[in-house]
Amino acid sequence: MLALSQPAQPQTANRRLAVQAIGLNKRYGTGTSTFLALDDVSIDITENEFFTLLGPSGCGKTTLLRLIAGFSFPTEGQILLHGKDIAPLPPFKRPINTVFQNYALFTHMSVAENIGFGLKMLGWTKPLIAERVAEMLKLVRMESLADRRTSEISGGQQQRVALARALAPQPQVLLLDEPLSALDYKLRKEMQVELKRLQTETGITFIFVTHDQEEALAMSDRIAVMNRGRVLQVGRPKEIYNAPVDRFVADFIGESNILHGRLAGPAGADGHRVDITGTVITAYSSAAITDAGSVQVLIRPEHVDVLDAPSADSIPAVIEDEVFVGTDTRLQLRLNDGSIFTARLTNSPEREKVRAPGTQVWLRIHGHSARLLGGEYVEHR
Ligand code: ATP
Repeated sequence: MLALSQPAQPQTANRRLAVQAIGLNKRYGTGTSTFLALDDVSIDITENEFFTLLGPSGCGKTTLLRLIAGFSFPTEGQILLHGKDIAPLPPFKRPINTVFQNYALFTHMSVAENIGFGLKMLGWTKPLIAERVAEMLKLVRMESLADRRTSEISGGQQQRVALARALAPQPQVLLLDEPLSALDYKLRKEMQVELKRLQTETGITFIFVTHDQEEALAMSDRIAVMNRGRVLQVGRPKEIYNAPVDRFVADFIGESNILHGRLAGPAGADGHRVDITGTVITAYSSAAITDAGSVQVLIRPEHVDVLDAPSADSIPAVIEDEVFVGTDTRLQLRLNDGSIFTARLTNSPEREKVRAPGTQVWLRIHGHSARLLGGEYVEHR
């Protein structure tokens, strides 16, 4: 079994920290019936960052968000905002606002009244509220619907109002709990761009919760991948995609082939030599290997060429299925050890080749794309 030491969190030292979670545990229930929803979670989130908590249902994302908002309290650990412990502050005294999944708008009020509601509660004067509401309407491009009731606008427009309302008091941190999940696919894509724009324009730290890996990759400066109450990896989207720390992260983010191999001699300067079904390829690891033996190698479906004749370092495979999916062709192949491998080839007018099931081919792995994985595989719950 391969043992990899955990890589350090990416450098955030040059930017000021906004939110720090330090050794957070959250246990629900009492007596013998308790459940550990957060297990020793520590995260640093910097100012002006679009930071995403990503993980399967039940992994603890909302629980972490609720602790930061002050809607519930950690069993152990601390949350700092700009270096200060916020435990004594009730939710309304924290410079933190939340956009909920269901928006929670007041349907009997107009768009403008909804946006100004929180400011009124905070004691802002009428002229200041009017000024701020106008700014917010402009920011979310809703000026023309200011007087419309929120029961009479579309889902995407309701989402904009919820954002404007949450941004109006100029919070230092905005928490967003799956805010796009109620929208259809096309609107969701549009709102992803919109959210990113709002974050860049306002410079507010966004902490965004989703279980949608594509959404997380598209929008985030950094992502924390969570499972079973633990943070498994924190990194920029490309780091998480290209260098997942373990099999769970590799499987959760994008499509993956995870092959079993054996280390074939000492590592070279350009990576580790790994024997996969009799072919020795080079695989990379960002962490030191502390134990040798059988290893797991991650190869993304788009990181191979499919050849009609063998070449150096190519892995023999047999085509089982070939499916045209518009921009790509997906091939399902079987390797000599019986394992299944998925390849994805980009289509072009020149590449029209259709291979019959049973055709012998060879897979050439793109340089620097095979990665050694550590850790045990944990099933999604
Ligand atoms: P989803 O994506 O489905 O919203 P999540 O990652 O946000 O999931 P949480 O809502 O944080 O997950 O829940 C984490 C775990 O804690 C789940 O197993 C859930 O059942 C449990 N849990 C949440 N709230 C409570 C509660 N009040 N009492 C007991 N268990 C709870």
